[in-house]
Amino acid sequence: MSAREHSDESSKRRVAYIYSPEYIETCDTLSKVPNRASMVHSLIEAYGLLPHMSVVKPRVATMEEMAMFHTDSYLEHLHKISQDGDNDDPQSADYGLGYDCPVVEGIFDYAAAVGGATLTAAECLLDQKCDVAINWAGGWHHAKKDEASGFCYVNDAVLGILKLREKHERVLYVDVDLHHGDGVEEAFSFTSKVMTVSLHKFSPGFFPGTGDVCDTGLGKGRWYAVNIPLEDGIQDDRYFQVFTSVMQEVRSQFNPEAVLMQLGADTMAGDPMCSFNMTPVGVAKCLLNVLQWQLPTLLLGGGGYNLANTARCWTFLTATVLGKTLSSEIPDHEFFTEYGPDYSLEISPSCRPDRNDRVRCLTLKHTLLLLAGLAKASSVTQMRRVLYIR
Ligand SMILES: [Zn+2]
Repeated sequence: MSAREHSDESSKRRVAYIYSPEYIETCDTLSKVPNRASMVHSLIEAYGLLPHMSVVKPRVATMEEMAMFHTDSYLEHLHKISQDGDNDDPQSADYGLGYDCPVVEGIFDYAAAVGGATLTAAECLLDQKCDVAINWAGGWHHAKKDEASGFCYVNDAVLGILKLREKHERVLYVDVDLHHGDGVEEAFSFTSKVMTVSLHKFSPGFFPGTGDVCDTGLGKGRWYAVNIPLEDGIQDDRYFQVFTSVMQEVRSQFNPEAVLMQLGADTMAGDPMCSFNMTPVGVAKCLLNVLQWQLPTLLLGGGGYNLANTARCWTFLTATVLGKTLSSEIPDHEFFTEYGPDYSLEISPSCRPDRNDRVRCLTLKHTLLLLAGLAKASSVTQMRRVLYIR
């Protein structure tokens, strides 16, 4: 399997990989995806990719750092219930804790570890120690300032963007998870300094229910939230086509100085979400499209509920960043048996139909017009003209 052609550009790329055994252990025990962090790391290690990156030990986020986004009362509550893993505290429901975001002992330490790891990645970029920084155990894009949501207790993506903003005027957030990056969009909906772009499944009853093409940001942030709703069954080629058309406009209108990309792998064929029909090759092409801009870039994980496929995807993406080609055969390692029956790195698309017909192409056109309008429209009225009359 060819990760990508080697080029001078990729071999010169300095990559920081956020890792420590303690961090992986914390993520393994407490997240909704048990042992996933270990599986991902072990596969990256087994393919011999670690010596090509600087391995950076993450620090833990302080309460004050998490309070840059989250409210004190939410953090204090999370801290309180974390001590004995109290899942029945009557106040918890107000903070989104319970059903979807169960409380277990040590949940606060997990949140602080994930937040700290993404902050560490952002600091490596700010200190110019690397060009690309990777935290596969991060990317918890649903958490709100005072509410846990969709397995996310702390929004490390928001914390990472805020950190990058300390030195960069304009930061671009790109979210290719199956789900809408609602927590991040909401956090920056009122600013023109952070543009959020999310490609996701949008369908009645599908979590989190937001991310319609018409949702474009508020106040000063109007037109700085870009949503590309998609239907089930999308495959690599069409996704890449949509992605590149949008990103070309985004880049020319917004001119970002740094990028944070959430690469949730629940879009993969074979994921229990059973929605999109992607392979790592398609996501890697989208990633390379962004890396070509040669901006400081922070990469995060996110969803991904077929654990072996998620490890396949993120290992392939790590190799892509490094310009390395990986052998098709999964190397022998601790989790080898999880990769049966074919023990191969590739993921084959399933034969489900692609529901992204002409209607979706119109949606895309709509998005592109919105972005084109951003340059020209100085008022909402002008924007409407761009959208509906042209
Ligand atoms: Zn997701």
